[in-house]
Amino acid sequence: MEKADLHIHTTASDGTLKPNEIVKWAYKKNVKAIAITDHDTVYGIDIAINEANKYNNLLVIPGIEFSCEYNDIEIHILGYFINYKSKILKKLTDKIIHSRKIRGEKIIKKLNKIGIEINIRDVENHSRNSRFIGRPHIARALIAKKYVNTINEAFEKYIGKDKPAYEPRYKLSINKAINVIHAIKGIAVLAHPGLIKDINPKEVFTNYKFDGIEVYHSKHKIEDIKKYEKLANEHNLIKTGGSDFHGEYIDGKPIIGNYYVQLENLKTDLKNKNKFYIEGV
Ligand code: AMP
Ligand code: ZN
Ligand code: FE
Ligand code: FE
Repeated sequence: MEKADLHIHTTASDGTLKPNEIVKWAYKKNVKAIAITDHDTVYGIDIAINEANKYNNLLVIPGIEFSCEYNDIEIHILGYFINYKSKILKKLTDKIIHSRKIRGEKIIKKLNKIGIEINIRDVENHSRNSRFIGRPHIARALIAKKYVNTINEAFEKYIGKDKPAYEPRYKLSINKAINVIHAIKGIAVLAHPGLIKDINPKEVFTNYKFDGIEVYHSKHKIEDIKKYEKLANEHNLIKTGGSDFHGEYIDGKPIIGNYYVQLENLKTDLKNKNKFYIEGV
């Protein structure tokens, strides 16, 4: 059985391991395929591919994760097998990364106003790629300065939705995200539906041109998996899955490869869709 972990973040966005470190661990853990799915950037993909070329039979699938606005709720859309060198994509991701920086500065100002002494350098110290500023970096800076003990506490007390230092950021519409992914030859997948409150997935799959659904995920419960497997079959959707690794460890090992789809099943799903195939396998 060949494992494919299709949801991994690196230091190119808000993960804690570099793309080459991710690949090393994937190899150690006998994972046959990984998708690099950083938020709003493809900056880590070439580094991962170069590292994977040092090993036999380890496939890196180029991906991305976009945040979208849907009826006032946030949903995430994954793109896979994308042409990550596309100019259209670069233009869009440059714009989003820039808006993240401005939004990060606004969050810091709001924190300062409520007496928390933190500045952009503190935050950048926790972003190994300081071009990308996400709330997890701000949370890590708040932990280092002993304002909170955990990332979750930082979200609950300060930077989560409706909390005192919350600041929204630029989000795409679902149609825009799906259209961009299709324009660069990728497949569009609804990420971790089990984590989205107040969503009616049937409605979403009827109204939008999704190709797949993330059935398996580190935060999905057994009931979620059963529900979304059924839904995928009903709507003829590709089933994907992965760890959504950002830096979580169990027994000293990163959870890369602990949540996955079987590569064989992915290939069959892709073939049934009749449009896509996996290069290099
Ligand atoms: P941002 O993209 O900058 O808005 O930050 C959102 C990211 O922070 C999400 O993609 C998650 O990776 C992470 N995140 C959101 N809520 C929490 C939470 N309560 N605890 C830990 N991480 C979170
Ligand atoms: Zn993230
Ligand atoms: Fe997500
Ligand atoms: Fe993710």
